Amino acid sequence: MERQRPTPTSRDLFPFAAARPVQKDLLADALRVLSSRGHLVAHAPTGVGKTAAALTAALQVALEADKKVLFLTARQSQHRIAVETLRAMADGLPSLRVVDAISKQSMCLYNNAFRFYGAFHEFCNFMVRTRSCRYFYRDNTAMVEALEERPLHAQEVVALGREEGACPHRAAMQASERAHVVVGDYNYLFSDLTERILRHLGCSLEDIILVVDEAHNLPERIRAELEVSLGPSEVEEAAREARPLDRRASLRISTLARQLSAALSSLETEGVVEAEFLTAPLVRSLARGPGRPPEVGEFVEDLRVLGRGVVAQEGRSTLLDLATFLERWVRPGEGVLRTAHPAPHGSLTCRLLDPAVIAGPIFAAVHGSIVMSGTLHPGEMFADLLGLETHRRLIAYYPSPFPPSHRLVIAHPTLTTQYDRRSPGMSRAYAEVIAQVASAAPGNVAAFFPSYELLAEAGGALTAAGLPKRLLVERRGMDKGQREGLVAALREANAGAGALLLGVLGGSLSEGVDYEDNLLKVVIVAGLPLTPPSVEAEALRSYLSVRLGRGKGYDYAYVYPAVNRVLQAAGRGIRGEGDRAVVVLLDRRFLDPRYARYFPSDFAPRPTLSPAPSVARFFTAPRVGDGDAPEEGGRGRAPRRGMARAPGGGEEADPQTLPPPRPGWPAPGRKG
Ligand code: SF4
Repeated sequence: MERQRPTPTSRDLFPFAAARPVQKDLLADALRVLSSRGHLVAHAPTGVGKTAAALTAALQVALEADKKVLFLTARQSQHRIAVETLRAMADGLPSLRVVDAISKQSMCLYNNAFRFYGAFHEFCNFMVRTRSCRYFYRDNTAMVEALEERPLHAQEVVALGREEGACPHRAAMQASERAHVVVGDYNYLFSDLTERILRHLGCSLEDIILVVDEAHNLPERIRAELEVSLGPSEVEEAAREARPLDRRASLRISTLARQLSAALSSLETEGVVEAEFLTAPLVRSLARGPGRPPEVGEFVEDLRVLGRGVVAQEGRSTLLDLATFLERWVRPGEGVLRTAHPAPHGSLTCRLLDPAVIAGPIFAAVHGSIVMSGTLHPGEMFADLLGLETHRRLIAYYPSPFPPSHRLVIAHPTLTTQYDRRSPGMSRAYAEVIAQVASAAPGNVAAFFPSYELLAEAGGALTAAGLPKRLLVERRGMDKGQREGLVAALREANAGAGALLLGVLGGSLSEGVDYEDNLLKVVIVAGLPLTPPSVEAEALRSYLSVRLGRGKGYDYAYVYPAVNRVLQAAGRGIRGEGDRAVVVLLDRRFLDPRYARYFPSDFAPRPTLSPAPSVARFFTAPRVGDGDAPEEGGRGRAPRRGMARAPGGGEEADPQTLPPPRPGWPAPGRKG
């Protein structure tokens, strides 16, 4: 009889010769939590090695419990490190089957230029249904076998598909069924694709161990995915589109456009409205013309059918957009915000306030999960917003493995972007300090502002200041290529005097770019980017106050999104072990205990009225050894894992010691 092979352990699976101490902690926590069917919410800064730790733990538990690992990311660029790590794991475990898949549109072999994924989706369906796609029906056996043989990057799968003349996405989905690990996008589980993806994976949510990478993006991604807007002009365009296809439908749609226009003209300001604001004129419009008026649901389906025909011909359809909007608007549901903006640029918007409505049931159903990011602070907020059940979740903070002496954090005690203190004089003062810091720093400097308006005000004054560095400016609406051009210019400038990059907090340059090889020597945070009051922010505060408690409503709606944007930007300076950088916080509120208490305890800045000399000293002073005392003014080493300051200044329990068994939380090590 054949001897059964033992299940590989984390020792066999871990892809590197040795783990860092903090990486070992993360791995041990992940193993214990996943073995207990829990959720690990991990704040693990750059350098911890979280991808290798999370994949090792998830795969070990998946192999033991016959589950599948789904590793989801916010961006295609984040797939690379996951696939590279899995390749290294496959060196020790050749039977490991991995599939890396990006969106169907990005893997399609037709040169498609559809603006909206929905329109591409209709195109692909049409091509398959009518057997017009020459790649879909090709025999792809060899390709699926190649995918099962060793982990391939999605781009390699596309290249292989081109060689074989077979649809790469179809082959990836077919190989997913037998894969141990699938790397994909957030919308695989957190959108209306979920059921289709589960069919491809050949399993149910209960069979999935989920790893969410860069998870600080997930709540916003879920909200953005479901946000839809519509104005009378789009409704009129849909009426024009329908005219040659169905005159009665066209008449009903143009009546709706007129009635919507009238309703928006009666408004004085933007405000929250009920679903009836649109459904009442819609029902009246459906009564136009002879015969029985259709129900709203029937009408939406009719629009969809008409729209599909238009997409097949033209590649896009406003009728389809209208159908999607109406469907979302009339759908009853908790945590949905409907707003109306008055004419002349009137429109309706439908947003999801509460990502937990979508994410909560998914996390409740999966076998277990690791929700991780370098800036998951405070972990409790992300766990609450994603609806992670309190009895299954463990929130853990891991310190940066890099020597604290490699980073200096300083703050200016008088400058501020506080709304009632803004003035041309304040903008000039910002420009002056930024110019001084840029002159004192040895290489590239980035200054990130709370908004494009503040960037323009200070940036205008900076141009005149006669900088010794090249000035690079992020502009609203820049595409990916233009932003990459700015990063390339930074690389070029690094060889000489360096450049000063001006960008916005919360933008791609302050969050999505990995400035490798110490490309940024100084990161300036030019203001505290608190969420400005708006109808949406107020609705969110009041909704979360009811769901989670009054204090959390304000903090989660206004303060913590700003904290996360600051931590993301501040983290751009140090990306590797040998990097050294200064973070200059230009807002007195960073020193005010009312705001400082929201930041992690290793982010305590030293006040200084003259940041430039401190920056110059940091780079010219003799280096102290790694692990030695921090630079002058630092406030000691990063907190021990699990002893990070909790929001509001309290301390959380050390996650080394799992919480005592509570109802529904099985003892560590026991299968749930
Ligand atoms: S089946 Fe594949 S190749 Fe054909 S249209 Fe769809 S995605 Fe493109």
